[in-house]
Amino acid sequence: MFGGTFNPIHFGHLRAAEEVREALGLERIIFMPSCVPPLKSGDLAEGGCRLEMVRLAVRDNPYFEVSDMECRRGEKSYTVTTIEELKEQHPPLEPLFILGVDAFLDIPNWYRPERLIQLCDFIVVSRPPYGVEEILKSPFIEDEGTGRGGETPAVLTLKSGRRVISMNCTPIGISASEIRERLRAGRSIKYLLPETVESYIISNKVYNDLR
Ligand code: ATP
Repeated sequence: MFGGTFNPIHFGHLRAAEEVREALGLERIIFMPSCVPPLKSGDLAEGGCRLEMVRLAVRDNPYFEVSDMECRRGEKSYTVTTIEELKEQHPPLEPLFILGVDAFLDIPNWYRPERLIQLCDFIVVSRPPYGVEEILKSPFIEDEGTGRGGETPAVLTLKSGRRVISMNCTPIGISASEIRERLRAGRSIKYLLPETVESYIISNKVYNDLR
């Protein structure tokens, strides 16, 4: 499960997901746009629009799919609730939660972080300017495991006993906030995200009234 605001989805997200899938031989990656992100507001496009942009971005990859679980719930999108629901829906499968190292380090500020780190294993990827070794700054890491030599993928252990696979990905320094900033300034967003998503943003004026 790859969660995010995806406001909008871009090549940084897509390439990281593809590299994780290939390196770990995953059968599928479920993109999970958060409908009402508890920690982000301001120029947030409507949940339905972000869901549609993810749909457009992943439709040519047979390993990628998008879930409307958080959008359907409509209330604040807590990852703990989403992981619990995924586990209920797909026993005995165990979800793996993919996230960038910046997001992983932020988990202590999320809803019920101690519960979250008990619920599933994690895959943490580098995200410029942060290399994946930054993961050691997390208060939840118990043991560096095979991460000691700095090679990736590496397997580390959390205080909950759950595992984290850390992985360096091709550094792609794109952020959704930079894309929104460019749109506000009337600048080009070409080659930062799939063409289908760019066309959707322009023809639906997704960010025109958002500040
Ligand atoms: P914003 O700039 O609005 O904060 P964002 O670009 O960080 O957005 P999110 O939807 O918040 O995008 O990110 C979802 C997940 O994708 C997070 O775990 C984040 O760390 C990861 N991620 C985002 N951009 C990249 C990137 N360029 N490379 C690797 N991972 C990324």
